[in-house]
Amino acid sequence: MNILIVGGGIAGFAMARALELRGFAPDLVERREQGFSAGMGLYMPGNVARALAQLGLLKSVRDIAVPILTQSILDHRGRPLSVSRTQDVWSECGPCLSLPRTALQAILRGSLQQTNARFGVSVTAIQPSAQRCEVVFSDDTTAVYDLVIGADGIKSTVRSLLFPSAVPASVGNVCWRFIAPNTTEINGWTAMLGQGRTLLAIPVSAEKVYVYADKTLGDGEAKEDIQTTPLATVFEDFSAPVLPLIASMPSTTPVHFGSIEQVVMSTWYLDQVVLIGDAAHASSPSMAEGAGMAIEDALVLAETLAASERVDAALQAYVTRRKPRVDWVQQQCVARDTMRSLPPLARNVILRLFGEKLYKRSYGPLLAQV
Ligand SMILES: Cc1cc2nc3c(=O)[nH]c(=O)nc-3n(C[C@H](O)[C@H](O)[C@H](O)COP(=O)(O)OP(=O)(O)OC[C@H]3O[C@@H](n4cnc5c(N)ncnc54)[C@H](O)[C@@H]3O)c2cc1C
Repeated sequence: MNILIVGGGIAGFAMARALELRGFAPDLVERREQGFSAGMGLYMPGNVARALAQLGLLKSVRDIAVPILTQSILDHRGRPLSVSRTQDVWSECGPCLSLPRTALQAILRGSLQQTNARFGVSVTAIQPSAQRCEVVFSDDTTAVYDLVIGADGIKSTVRSLLFPSAVPASVGNVCWRFIAPNTTEINGWTAMLGQGRTLLAIPVSAEKVYVYADKTLGDGEAKEDIQTTPLATVFEDFSAPVLPLIASMPSTTPVHFGSIEQVVMSTWYLDQVVLIGDAAHASSPSMAEGAGMAIEDALVLAETLAASERVDAALQAYVTRRKPRVDWVQQQCVARDTMRSLPPLARNVILRLFGEKLYKRSYGPLLAQV
């Protein structure tokens, strides 16, 4: 089968790896030139370790990732609200891990042997016909495929060509992300909750910590106004253990700023074109399941393609298996975002009383095999 993957992010490279393991040799185009964008970390709950093991890559990831043993939620002054021990939930799947995003992408990409990858190339048109798909690339070449897999992220070109009405929607938050020296020796997933704001830190190596900060936009508040406000000012009423990481951050640190958006669709394929990862179902990062859902998509799609004579049957089987699980993750992200935006007094009481239970409940269904 002649397969094109559009996008060389986590979903695209995982898809190529999963297809190779099933005996396929796909083409892949990535619009960026060689490099990955640095400065972001990735936290991966235990189901992701299991998915990486199925790709044969868990050992390579474990060799460099930091095992995360606890998820702690504190109030904005650093007073504990809840602590969950990750292995209490994930022991049957694998460890919770954290690492720089570029490191995971390098491992996925480095594992490919049969994939024909081209960088600096995008798609400009996709014309599905009865059985095949004609694709026009940004370098003016064309090719015909049995299947096109859109793994091109939240701003997917493939989605906009095939499903123009499915557009990302803001969840009402803006966020900042950066990697900095771990001056406060944070050693687990640590989130501090204030009114309409969250400050989170997680180690990604022996010396470095990944910091994520978000803020709910108030009525009439513009993203651009927030972007020009210094981060230390936005979080001035916060304290240790996370706030000092902003103060000690070297001035040259690249800080990524953006809106948080989600994509919700009723199906992910049309004719011989299918979507995976963020292109199909981007969510707010509250469950930290973006990479996990993308890798699981890749495993299931490769399996259904290998098992079926017909592409349409394989795509329907993929959607049927994946949709309930992805829907659950998207619902839990909304529930967590809603909980974070409750008045602090009520929210803090709920987290003190039920924080651990809520953690187990939200991840419980992901213990099942994909
Ligand atoms: C603030 C924030 C924090 C997050 N934190 C976590 C976390 O801790 N853990 C976690 O698991 N997830 C996290 N996520 C989600 C995670 O980043 C995504 O779910 C994941 O990156 C999805 O991978 P993807 O390959 O589908 O998309 P992407 O990573 O966006 O990759 C898409 C690729 O396609 C390429 N591309 C785009 N358009 C084209 C085109 N037309 N032609 C060719 N190539 C194209 C892009 O250059 C890119 O390389 C977070 C997300 C946000 C916004």
